[in-house]
Amino acid sequence: METKLKDMGLPKSIANVFAARNITTAKEALSLTEFELMQLLDVGLADVASAVARISEIACPPYQTVLSLLEQRIQKETHGGHLPTRLKGLDKALCGGIPFGVLTELVGPAGIGKTQFCMKLSLLASLPEAYGGLNGRVIYIDVESKLSSRRIIEIGAESLPEIFHIKGMAQEMAGRILVLRPSSLLELTESLQQIKVSIFQHQVKLLVIDSMAAAVSRDYGHAAPRQHPLGWHISFIKSLAESSRIPVVVTNQVRSQSRDEACQYAFQEQSKRKASEAPAGYDSHLVAALGIHWAHAVTIRLVLEAKSGQRFIKLAKSPISPPIAFPFTITSSGISLLNDDGQELKGTEISTIQYQGFHKDIFL
Ligand code: ATP
Ligand code: MG
Repeated sequence: METKLKDMGLPKSIANVFAARNITTAKEALSLTEFELMQLLDVGLADVASAVARISEIACPPYQTVLSLLEQRIQKETHGGHLPTRLKGLDKALCGGIPFGVLTELVGPAGIGKTQFCMKLSLLASLPEAYGGLNGRVIYIDVESKLSSRRIIEIGAESLPEIFHIKGMAQEMAGRILVLRPSSLLELTESLQQIKVSIFQHQVKLLVIDSMAAAVSRDYGHAAPRQHPLGWHISFIKSLAESSRIPVVVTNQVRSQSRDEACQYAFQEQSKRKASEAPAGYDSHLVAALGIHWAHAVTIRLVLEAKSGQRFIKLAKSPISPPIAFPFTITSSGISLLNDDGQELKGTEISTIQYQGFHKDIFL
């Protein structure tokens, strides 16, 4: 809060004149010249200079050193909390898992495993702390009705048999995942406002929105993202994550980038030619369906993609890790990594979203 002039320890005679002239803040006092202050206060230059120095010292924001910023950051990371994904390599890269208080985005083509990942995270958040969970409720906004209760129980029973075979545990876990199925963007908006209250009332430890892109495209079609009225949602969801300090996981889909969008400038002509030469079944121009505003709002972006028939999970944006990719599979026990070491990514690999060999090699 701004310190008032009367509380700055100025000489009483000076403080009284400021009060009498209704000058109460540092800004009001410092916007006068030294000459004006000398006239107003009826004192000499030395007294004015010392009063100005005193006001500036108190009103000026304190300095921070790199060391103090580092200490604050470590404090935040150790006490800020993470939801471990139990995908060892990914947890290591994320310094413990999906961070609290920020947005984590899962983006990738249809059928790649975004919902599978969200279901697994929901289970993990609802587990008792003794088993490495967050012991809380989960709010799962299931925009496209793709959450499968049977699949959640299957993932739990297969990946955590020692816990799920305890009598009543499956029911208890399933009862902690609250599912909302908004039928329009307006209903989603209303749900979000309601959730802000519920998070504190019901011990909610994870919010999932699967998928944000579907919620928008259902009402607005596949119009260019700049036409999406998402501004309110972006800032609301971000502030919800910050104020509640829980992990918020949001899925995003992909769409083909139109030629015009891809090549707005003459120097991009070369990539335009390359695109038209690309073999059938390989689309090098997939982009996240929600545009650049959304991409800026998310702190962690995980891209799920397929290359030569192999699925990869790519940590494409993170404030603490270089871009890195892990091959993964989906089995009855959910998502698992084939390799915990990961491959560091360079150049355009970081931002591209591939689905090479997607239908042919993986799914048929
Ligand atoms: P969309 O954008 O359409 O919502 P998505 O990325 O959410 O797609 P998911 O529904 O998460 O995709 O993944 C579906 C894939 O998960 C299926 O194609 C299948 O390969 C795999 N899968 C689902 N259940 C099982 C299972 N029991 N065993 C093995 N793989 C499974
Ligand atoms: Mg899905």
